[in-house]
Amino acid sequence: MRSIVLVDSRSPGIGNGLTYSVADFTVKPGSLVNVPLRKKSMEGLVLALEEKKQDEEFSIKSIEGVLSEEPLLSDAHLKTLQWMSDYYFCSLRQALTPFLPPPPWRTLLPKDVLGYRYVQEAGKLGKKQQIVLEYLNGKDWMPLQELRRHTGASAETLRTLVARGCISEEMRSMIKKTSADDHVLLGKAPELTPIQKEAYESMKADPRPSLLFGVTGSGKTEVYASLIADVAAQGKQSILLVPEILLTQHSIKRFEEMFDRDRIAVLHSRLTPSSRRLEWMRIANGEATLVIGSRSALFAPCKNLGLVIIDEEHEWTYKNEQTPRYHARETAEALTRFANAKLVLGTATPSLETWSRAKEGTYHIARLPERYMNRPLPTVKVIDLVNVRFGQHYPFSKPLIDAIADRLKKGEQTVLFLNRRGMASAVMCLKCRRRLTSPESQLPFTMHRDPHGRAFLLDHFSGVEAELPAACPYCGNHDLFPVGAGTQKLEDTLAALFPEARLLRADSDTLQYPEQMRLLLKKMEERQADILLGTQSVVKGLDLPGITLAAVMVADVGLSLPHFRAGERVFQLLTQLTGRSGRKIPGEVIIQTFRPDSAEVIAASQHRTEDYLEAELKLRNTLKYPPATQMIRFILRDEGAEKRAKMLHASILRLIEDNRLPAQAMIAPTLFGGGRVWHILLRGLHLRTLLPKLDLINVVVDIDPVDCI
Ligand code: ADP
Repeated sequence: MRSIVLVDSRSPGIGNGLTYSVADFTVKPGSLVNVPLRKKSMEGLVLALEEKKQDEEFSIKSIEGVLSEEPLLSDAHLKTLQWMSDYYFCSLRQALTPFLPPPPWRTLLPKDVLGYRYVQEAGKLGKKQQIVLEYLNGKDWMPLQELRRHTGASAETLRTLVARGCISEEMRSMIKKTSADDHVLLGKAPELTPIQKEAYESMKADPRPSLLFGVTGSGKTEVYASLIADVAAQGKQSILLVPEILLTQHSIKRFEEMFDRDRIAVLHSRLTPSSRRLEWMRIANGEATLVIGSRSALFAPCKNLGLVIIDEEHEWTYKNEQTPRYHARETAEALTRFANAKLVLGTATPSLETWSRAKEGTYHIARLPERYMNRPLPTVKVIDLVNVRFGQHYPFSKPLIDAIADRLKKGEQTVLFLNRRGMASAVMCLKCRRRLTSPESQLPFTMHRDPHGRAFLLDHFSGVEAELPAACPYCGNHDLFPVGAGTQKLEDTLAALFPEARLLRADSDTLQYPEQMRLLLKKMEERQADILLGTQSVVKGLDLPGITLAAVMVADVGLSLPHFRAGERVFQLLTQLTGRSGRKIPGEVIIQTFRPDSAEVIAASQHRTEDYLEAELKLRNTLKYPPATQMIRFILRDEGAEKRAKMLHASILRLIEDNRLPAQAMIAPTLFGGGRVWHILLRGLHLRTLLPKLDLINVVVDIDPVDCI
């Protein structure tokens, strides 16, 4: 036998594995081994086993040792790895990155721990000794730590019992296997309403991926909980993906009511390497019944996977913007297919990709058309900002100010969305009318205030900071004016308008860790705050019963971006906004916009999601944009990016013509790359056939790009 082994080395040319003879070792696909590479011994993961070819017998080196015969990755994971490498056009080594914590991988192997086993009674024992012996009697073996926790046994007691031959010491692995007999459910699974039950039953009965299309507040989380409980009762594991790390706190709380906290594992990119390793092992050992996390939690090493749920499946954060540039939805489809597990995509505003697959019948649809308890959706007021005279209060219109005042009077809560953090979205010279721009991205600097009240400039795309100059760098004039409000500015304006109101600000400046988010939610829930203002990425998924007014300050920010998904994105945001208000008591939504007639604003304000999706799908079909076509993006950076991009573009055009493909390729510097990053956008059908024919050294290939401006 010979094996294909992926070694722990980033050297070029070996990213798809090397061949080693298995010799007399016993290994399986997924086993961890030691192999020789350039005079060194290295760790490697066995990807596959093959029959040896006759003539090759002497030419290949042999595996040196087996670190773990028990596979580190399951068969379904290995197949998904291969699928990712094929589909996303990257090496297996690159595709492996999200599956395993960084090497050395042997630290992931279960270690043997000290424990004790019952042997026999032996005459009269002390009280403490008797407790330990009784506890161990009838049990197979108990690790020391657990034995101490249950009996308080001291080292002395254990030593005596061993010496008298009543118990014996033994090192064993801690692996616990979940089984259907384990009573993993703490609280009851939720009682579903008849509509929720129908959706749940239909998803259980259908093996296809299911779209759970439910209006905001319809109880999607409750339906997820029921599905997870079922899977747990079968001794299988579930993965719940949420779009934003900060929102995991919210989900964990809900699921802690159902499971013992020990049964829930949390994975996200802000974990320290050691916590990540620990969570990884708890999942691999089967101790965790439910894994909650952001995008990369999809790769949790569940050996017995029964269910993957992607909550808010339409969110952009499910696309990884670094190699491997995978989309969690597509990858989850592959993983659940290989693992024979169910996939559920939940949302109030399906992505056009999901919607078109559901319409074709590739996905099954379950609908939750009403809010829980038939609570009404909020009434929506659209305010045309063109007609508003703001005075000192930009961007607060009079009806919005009145609505907030009304909530304060009634002791109800308000949430405000603004798409920009900081003090101002740009700083403009009042004489030459130019804006201060970042040399890095060529985009306007935003103005921020540090904790001491000092203003500074920040480029949101590159992270570059700069001093606020005393005069305009172009004309020397001293009248520099901050334009466009950010969340910090909004906070000041609100404090001036409502000095008595208790304000909370939620943006990536104030919230960096899940714990901060948890405290913020607690304050809102306990009514220690009246108004929450924040950027949408942070506040859009909240389930806070006290909110009866939700408002977006300027709805158009996304609409002016030159992106074919801009409309879809604004629609999703506005619908999420309507989802925050009136979840318990009837509520209201205010949309302030410069474009009240846009299709997105009209459809969202009338809660006509399906009409919007149909119209947008038709538009994409006519204009030949995804999901009607495919898209591939090539990104070129560094030395000679422009020249290399132009050459690649020319060869792509030639191939399109030679193969008569219904496709087109557009070349441009990226909007945020400061002119140094170039990309080529390929759009059409049968595009993948071109890839093997192109010279793609030093070119990033982005399949199904989401961010393409
Ligand atoms: P969604 O995720 O669809 O926006 P949620 O699952 O957050 O909706 O549900 C909205 C609110 O209704 C939550 O506070 C939730 O606890 C409550 N709810 C929904 N369904 C039920 C149910 N079957 N039993 C009890 N409460 C429910």
